[in-house]
Amino acid sequence: MNSSSPYAQYDVPQNLQFKTSDIVRMGGLVCSAQISPQLLTDVLEKPNEILKATVSLNFSIASHEILIRGKIEGQRRIECARCLALAQQPYQEEFVETCSTKTEIIDIMSLVKQTLALTEDIRFLCQPECKGLCPHCGKNLNEGLCNCKPESLSPFAVLKGKFK
Ligand SMILES: [Zn+2]
Ligand SMILES: [Zn+2]
Repeated sequence: MNSSSPYAQYDVPQNLQFKTSDIVRMGGLVCSAQISPQLLTDVLEKPNEILKATVSLNFSIASHEILIRGKIEGQRRIECARCLALAQQPYQEEFVETCSTKTEIIDIMSLVKQTLALTEDIRFLCQPECKGLCPHCGKNLNEGLCNCKPESLSPFAVLKGKFK
């Protein structure tokens, strides 16, 4: 056990609701914790999902305020915007927040959720050249061509004539 850190005995609450009085009494806090993905199921648009999340926090006290710097990282499952295939993606996001030392509870969970929701990768592509789905039969064109007629496959065929 590392007893050199004054925070070594601090048990990070799983729901990430920190008592301001604890942090003030300790003169600040540096800690990290794994968050159960079950607590984050409502954060991303389905079928996107957080699979793993670790949060690192640094609370520092400046007169009547607490400055919170946080980093959250892990793995998420993201749907390709074109072909709808699911892929795993590592992520790392940061947030900064201040709150008054008079606040009773510092709700880090809602900061984590906000950060994850705001940084959701809605234009994610499984590969830069993803061919997407056939608009007619729905086949994933990365897996090969379908039997639909070529002219009906290209939305650019119409545009080409238009701009000539
Ligand atoms: Zn794709
Ligand atoms: Zn097709």
